This record gives sequence, structure tokens and C-alpha cells, in this order.
Amino acid sequence: MGWRTLIGLEIHVELMTKKKIYCNCKNEFGGEVNTHVCPVCLGLPGALPVIDKECLEFGIKAGLAFNSEIAEVVRMDRKNYFYPDLVKGYQISQSDLPLCDGGYLEIDLPEGPKRINLERIHIEEDTGKQIHNDDGTTLLDFNRCGVPLIEIVSKPDISSAEEARLFLDKLRSTIKYIGISDVRMEEGSLRCDVNINVIDDERGIKSRITEIKNLNSFKSVVKTIEFEEKRHIELLEKGENTDRETRRWDEVAGETILMRRKYTAEDYRFCYDGDLPPLMVDRNWLEEIKAAMPELPHAKKVRFISDYGLSDYDASVLTQSRELADFFEETVKHVDDSKLVANWMMGDVLRRLKEEEKEIQELQLSSKDLAELLILVRDGKINNNTGKKVLRDMFETGKSPETIVSEQGLIQISDEGALAEAVDKILDANPQSIDDYKNGKDRAVGFLMGQIMKETKGKANPQLVSAILSEKLKKR
Ligand code: ZN
Ligand code: MN
Repeated sequence: MGWRTLIGLEIHVELMTKKKIYCNCKNEFGGEVNTHVCPVCLGLPGALPVIDKECLEFGIKAGLAFNSEIAEVVRMDRKNYFYPDLVKGYQISQSDLPLCDGGYLEIDLPEGPKRINLERIHIEEDTGKQIHNDDGTTLLDFNRCGVPLIEIVSKPDISSAEEARLFLDKLRSTIKYIGISDVRMEEGSLRCDVNINVIDDERGIKSRITEIKNLNSFKSVVKTIEFEEKRHIELLEKGENTDRETRRWDEVAGETILMRRKYTAEDYRFCYDGDLPPLMVDRNWLEEIKAAMPELPHAKKVRFISDYGLSDYDASVLTQSRELADFFEETVKHVDDSKLVANWMMGDVLRRLKEEEKEIQELQLSSKDLAELLILVRDGKINNNTGKKVLRDMFETGKSPETIVSEQGLIQISDEGALAEAVDKILDANPQSIDDYKNGKDRAVGFLMGQIMKETKGKANPQLVSAILSEKLKKR
């Protein structure tokens, strides 16, 4: 049976609330350094925190999206440690009574769905930012201090780097769907810690858990797990073991590096924060939040399969983001042909998004314009290839398809007389191809088709041309 890997992830997500978690300062990424600060988030003596209602609401939304139990009483605790960017000397977090208890999310593996259970989701405050200068000095920016976070803690149910990637992907898209964070790893609004060890069930040996902190891309999570898996197994095979320690990923060296021996919960001296009285989560309010929850990715995917007759794969891709799914549904409303819309979106539209590394809402393309284009194609006003060309122009210029088609005179030629003339002209000019055709070389037909399309500047109705051409070839 061999080695089995146990991976648990801890994910910190910055919430997009209007205010910070315990004060009235603006919650905004960036901003002039030390301008979104006040006595509370600077930890000045005597300043008292008040918990932000919107932060609780966002945390509850996360709990509902991930199938957790929502607490009836919320209690905040102090997690004590010294950090220069958290000047109170403690972080107001949650210890044994988190806002959301348990929960799970499902990832799709080739062999079927796998449930990854969650330990908890709690709320807490972010720290400030240290700016390290080349001259060796360090400056502090407290704008981020007190920005609300949820920390999502999974059980060690993840068994490989690939599963971790799928888990993070699902988690990120779900959080985006419910609109509580922009989950941009590069801006630090989603940060991931990995807890990992390996076990050999037959021999009954296992390594001690290593924690790798603050990974800021999916790629580094994957590389970290692969590196640590190997390191743990190698040590155990030599008869040694890992230490319970905290490490960090060094991208340049391509390895993890020891930061410190692991703190345990006892080291943090968790204690109830007396500045914040316990809060009751009103059950009517909870029902209101539940009722206002948007449709989640999985439910949307199932509905797309049944309502629009899409394949499982197409439905997963088109429900990747709420915006993409909305765009699809809007377009279908105008065209009333879900397969046609799905084909064009899965093909040309998604390719464009990938090329430009953009999201659908960043393109100069409206669902109404795409629908108009597809109607032109469906009604035979322009042929498929012209449609693709018009779509490219729409991406570039933002013009409507009608405008592009009339400006460039692209209306498809379906006049049989005109097409017959073009076919004759090409046949007269290519006697060799006619001979080839008679000698059973089918390739000649393709060549002739191409010449005719060229002659008509790509505007000919290809079905009609093909019919006329085979008629005329038989008579030659
Ligand atoms: Zn403040
Ligand atoms: Mn935390």
C-alpha cells in the first residue's frame, strides 16, 4: 500500500466589507500608507473595539456556502504573540467557539466527487504590513491592520498536491460567487498555509506535521506539497523523522526553509477578550442571510445541465464564475439556442479570455451583441467563418455585429445565379483539378471550394457552393 499523504489547509481570506472589523476605518487595498488608521486599529491604550456587523454577515455567508453550522453565540478571544505589525501584542481572533463549525466542500476527481471536510471557519483581524528597504530598515504600514479575515481550516482530508489545487480552486470560485472577497492571491486577499505529514499504515510509521506558511499562489502550494512529501518520506525511510516545525517556501531555491519550531496553542495563551461582549446571532437574521444567498456553483452547474441540455464539462466551464454564467444565460435569452451559444462561448469567447488573461466582464463584448451575431449566423446572413471574423472585430472595436457586417459588406451570398457564375469561373481556370476529381482524388474538391470562397471574399454560402460545385463537376 505504501505511503499516504495527509494534508490540511488553512486559508486566510480578506473580506470586502466597507469597514475594518473592530473600528470605523475604511477597508481598502493600498491607499497612502498609514491613512486608514485610528486609535483602535493602532492599539492605543484605552481604545475599545466594536465588532462590525457586515463582517459577521460575510463570515456567515461563507459558513452557509461551505455547509457549516452557524454558531448561536459568537465569542472573541485574544491570541497573544509579539509581532511588530500588530502593536496590541495580540490578535483578536476566535479560539474554541468559532463563528462556523464543521462543513465541507466537494472536489471533482476523475474517479468521482470527493468530500473535503472542514474543521471550522472563524473571523479575525489582519496585521499591518512590513516594508523592508534595501538599506536594511523596515517601515510599517498599518492600513491593513484590522482588515477583516475569515480563516477556513480544513481537516487533513486532502491526499495530494492535485487535490489541494482542486480544493483551492473550488474554494476561490465559491467565495467569489458569494461576493465576500475578491480572492486575489497576488494582492494577498487569499493566503494559504499547508499542514502536511505522511503515514505508512502497514508499518505503522508516520512523520510529524510540518506547517508551511503564507503561500501566495496555487503553483507554490503545489510545489511545496510535492517537495515536503518527498522530504518526509526520505527522512522516514532513513529511520529519522521530521520535527514539528514551521517552514516557508523559497521560490528561487525551489525548497522549503525552516522558520521556527512550531508554536502550540498553549504558546498563544488564548484568553477571552473582555472588551467584546459575546454576541447572539439572531436566528431571524440568519434566515434573512440564507434567503439572500446567490445560487452556488454546483447548483448552477446542475441546473445548466438540466435546463440547457449542456454536457457536464461545458456546464462546469460555463459556471466557473458568476459573471460568465450570467453572460451565458443572458445571451441564451436573446438567441434561444443554448447549444449554439455554448459552442461559441466555449470556443472563440473563452479562447479570447485566455489569450488576454481577462474575465468576461472586462471584454468589450455585451451578451446582446454576441446574441445578435449568433442570430446572423443562424439565419444564414453570414457564414460561420465570417461570423468568427466579425467576432474578432467586435473584440477589437466594441462595435455591434450589424455595424461591422454592413461596414465591410459581409452579408453572405446566397444568390444561386451569382454563385453558379463564380463556380464556373473557378472551374474554367482549374482544368487540372477537374481531371484530378475524375481520377478519384477527393482533395481536388476541397481545393476548388477554397478557390470559390476566395473568389467571393469568403462571403459565399458554403452549403450552396458545395451543392452547385458537385452538380457542375458531374457535368464537366
Ligand atoms: Zn481603525
Ligand atoms: Mn489566523
